Amino acid sequence: MNKLQQLISETKRPFLVSGPCSVESEEQIFTIIRDLKKTGKVNLLRAGIWKPRTRPDSFEGLGEMALPWYVQASKEAGIKCSTEIANAKHVELALKHGVDVLWIGARTTVNPFTVQEIADALAGTNVPIMIKNPINPDLSLWLGAFERLEKAGVSDLVAIHRGFSVYTHPKYRNVPSWEIPIGLKEKMPEIPLLCDPSHITGNRKLLLEVSQKAMDLNFNGLMIETHHNPDKAWSDAEQQITAFQLEELLASLHLRSSIIPTDKLNEMEHMREKIANLDERIFEMLSARMRISEEVGVYKSKNNITILQEQHWNAVIENNLKKSESLGLTPKFIRSMIDAIHQESIRHQIRVMNPDQLGSNDK
Ligand code: PEP
Ligand code: MN
Repeated sequence: MNKLQQLISETKRPFLVSGPCSVESEEQIFTIIRDLKKTGKVNLLRAGIWKPRTRPDSFEGLGEMALPWYVQASKEAGIKCSTEIANAKHVELALKHGVDVLWIGARTTVNPFTVQEIADALAGTNVPIMIKNPINPDLSLWLGAFERLEKAGVSDLVAIHRGFSVYTHPKYRNVPSWEIPIGLKEKMPEIPLLCDPSHITGNRKLLLEVSQKAMDLNFNGLMIETHHNPDKAWSDAEQQITAFQLEELLASLHLRSSIIPTDKLNEMEHMREKIANLDERIFEMLSARMRISEEVGVYKSKNNITILQEQHWNAVIENNLKKSESLGLTPKFIRSMIDAIHQESIRHQIRVMNPDQLGSNDK
């Protein structure tokens, strides 16, 4: 185990990364870090030096001149510091000034050329690196960034889930799509996982609910943006909170254990067994249903009828959706379940009607 990974695993959840979106002045960064120090809760500082902004007329960070202030304020507080790097030059400058941990931002993870450039610049350093998810919901791209760094010999790696870009969303700045960080955890269980509710929500009022969800999904920690005067922040003003509000948020978090107490183990196993039995029955029933789909396929084939009967299909959807309330299932779930069953049913019907037309993946 390496340095940052080890620190995270030894820290009581949530491992907390906090600091402003960007360094704005010497006074600003010292004030914020001193406020954070007083909370006694922050394990690692964050602050942007180079800011990847969507539009060119936004504040793009102070650049190298801000590094000595940030590193000095971090040393004074005795809390290690991290910043975002987006190319080899940033890596060189951040390391030259003594930044302890670097992170690759969402707009960089998306680009394999840039990730490779950063991996090459880091080869032989063993600096801890945190990798944010790419802006698009692509688990392979995120995994690929870890693999590029691992190949360069950089092994002290941590993941940050910051949500995924969508054109518009009524609630979030970046939709969480929790199945993607869960997928990362499944493929790379050794990589600690942090959640960045600030960039997911884009809204300080929603930080608590997203942080709570991350804790309930057993994330190791949180990255939360803080500022001494959030409304006046030069970037991401709506999502930043004060150090005091950060303490309140942490106090409101309900932390549940990921370990089942031994005296509850039997009860839990009993419930899990019931679920496993039901799952088995669901799949046996699906298998029986598909055998009937094949009979229907044979019948349609003999009588020269198309596979898709639109009116019938619309009625099936409507009937099942009507049952959603009495079944206690969401219409969204029923719709995706019935669509998945239908797709599989079509594959079975094609198999009996036109066996030559199936793609190799469908067989
Ligand atoms: C940030 O952390 O300030 C940042 C720019 O984040 P992201 O890469 O998630 O957009
Ligand atoms: Mn930000």
